[in-house]
Amino acid sequence: MDTVDSEPKPYFVLVPLMAQGHMIPMVDMARLLAEHGATVTFVTTPVNALRIKTIIEKIRESQLPIDFLKLEFPCEKVGLPEGSESADMLSGSDQIIKFVNACAMLKDSLISCLKEKYPPPTCIIADMNQPWVGDVARELSIPRLTFNGSGVFPNLASYIIRHQNIFSDVKDDKEIVKIPGFPHLLEMTKAKSPIGVQRPGMEKFLEKRLQEERSADGVVVNSFYELEPLYIDSYAKTAGQKIWTIGPMLLCNRNTNEMSERGNKASIDEDDCLCWLDLQKPASVVYVSFGSLAQTTLSQLAEIGLGLEASGRPFVWVIKAGDKSTDVLEWLSDGFEERVHDRGLIIKGWAPQMMILSHRAIGGFLTHCGWNSILESICTGVPMITWPHFADQFLNEMLVVEILKIGVKIGVQYPNNWARDVEDDDNNNNNNNNNNVMVERKDVAKVVSELMDGGEEIREKARELARIARKAMDKGGSSSNNLIELIEYGDTAKTSAVEA
Ligand code: UDP
Repeated sequence: MDTVDSEPKPYFVLVPLMAQGHMIPMVDMARLLAEHGATVTFVTTPVNALRIKTIIEKIRESQLPIDFLKLEFPCEKVGLPEGSESADMLSGSDQIIKFVNACAMLKDSLISCLKEKYPPPTCIIADMNQPWVGDVARELSIPRLTFNGSGVFPNLASYIIRHQNIFSDVKDDKEIVKIPGFPHLLEMTKAKSPIGVQRPGMEKFLEKRLQEERSADGVVVNSFYELEPLYIDSYAKTAGQKIWTIGPMLLCNRNTNEMSERGNKASIDEDDCLCWLDLQKPASVVYVSFGSLAQTTLSQLAEIGLGLEASGRPFVWVIKAGDKSTDVLEWLSDGFEERVHDRGLIIKGWAPQMMILSHRAIGGFLTHCGWNSILESICTGVPMITWPHFADQFLNEMLVVEILKIGVKIGVQYPNNWARDVEDDDNNNNNNNNNNVMVERKDVAKVVSELMDGGEEIREKARELARIARKAMDKGGSSSNNLIELIEYGDTAKTSAVEA
C-alpha cells in the first residue's frame, strides 16, 4: 500500500492492557500524541469506555483527533462473568488466563476495523501484555512499539530475568540470585521478582509475549531520561531496540480537576476532600493507597488503621471497594472511625489520587509502588513509604529507596497475592507470616513518624526531582523532544516498513 502526501499522518493505534494502571497512562499518551498533530485510535471495550466516560467526553469537546474504538469483550466465550473487562474485576488469579485469552480474541475484530480506516494507521503501540497485537501489525504491514506502563529500571531487570530465564532452575523462592548483565550489582529472590505473579497455564501466553517483545520495533516508556539514564541506555543495548521515554505523561493534564478524573469516578465528593485537606497544615498528612489491583486482608487492614492511629499524624486512607467490603466497613464503624475522625479521612472506593497528592497538605505517600503511583508522587514532590506487593513493585521500591533516595521502606519481606486471592488467605491462613499480617501496627506507626518528622534530605530530593520531571515535559525537555521524535517515527515508519 502506498502512503500519499495528502494523507494526514502519522496515525497511531493504541492498544492498552485492560487494567487501570495500564490504561490510564495510555489515555494520557493518546492525548499527548493528538495534541502534537497525530491521529489516534484508542482501542477499548464497553465497560472500560464507561469508566473513562468523562475523559472521552472532554476529548470529544476539545476536538482532539482521538477515536475510541469499543470492541465487544468475549467474557462468555472464555467463561468469565459478564462485565469482567478489566484486570481489577477478576475474582482470583485463576481468571487471569481466561482474561488473557479473551483479550487475544479481539484480534480479528481489530484487524477488520483497522482495515476499514482511511487513511490507514501508520504505527501501533501495544501493551506488552497484549502480544496478539503483533499479528495485527503484521497483517496491516505497520510497525509495532511496545509499552508496559512501568519504568525502565524494572523493565530492564525484568527483560533480563525473562529472556535469560534466570529463575528457571531456582527451586527456593527465597534464594537470592544475581541478575547478570545489569549495569550494577542487582540481586533478588524469585518471589520478589516480576515473574512471581506467573501462574501455571500461562506458558503459551508467556512464550508469545517473549517473542513479540523481541520482535517489536521499539519501546515507549512512561518515564524521563533524567530519572534513570543508566538503565535507559543499558536497556537500549540489551534489547537492541530504540526506546522513547515520553513521561511523566500525567503532566499533560495540567488541570487538577481533570487529573482526578483519570480512570474512574471518585467515590467521594472531591470538594469535601479538598475542604478537608485545606484545613490541614502543609506537608502534615500521610496519604495511604495501594492502587487498583492489590488486595489487603482484613487483619492487615486493621493493623494499618491502628498503626495510622498510633502515629498521631493526620492521614488520608484509601480502602478499595474490593477489600473485603462488608467486614471492613464493620471494623471501621466499630469505634475506629469515631476515634480518628478529627484527623483521618477514610475514602472507600476510588480516590482522586492526583488531586490529593497535588495538595500542599500531603507530606508523604504510603504506596504499594505501582509505577503510576510512583510517578505521581515524583511529579508532586511527595516522598514515599514503600510497601511493594507483587510484579514490578519490589524493583520499583529499590529504585525509589536505594537509587533515587526519595523514600523509606516499610520493610515487607514477602510478596502479597494479587486480586482476590487474599480472601482465601484470610480463610486458609496460608500466608508466609502469622495471621496474614505483613506489617504490624507498630511498624506502620514507626515508619510514618520517621518520614513525617524527619526525612528532610529525602524531602528535598523529592522536590528537586519534581522540578526535573516538569522540565522533561516542557518544550525542549527530554521527554518533549522524544515525543516529537516518536511522532516523526510514526510519520515515516509505515513507509519504511512497506519498503522493507
Ligand atoms: N488510582 C486512583 N484512585 C484510586 C486508586 C488508584 O486515582 O483510588 C490511580 C492512581 O492514581 C494511578 C493508578 O490508579 O494512576 C494505579 O496505577 P499504579 O501503577 O499505581 O498501580 P496498579 O493499580 O496498576 O497496581
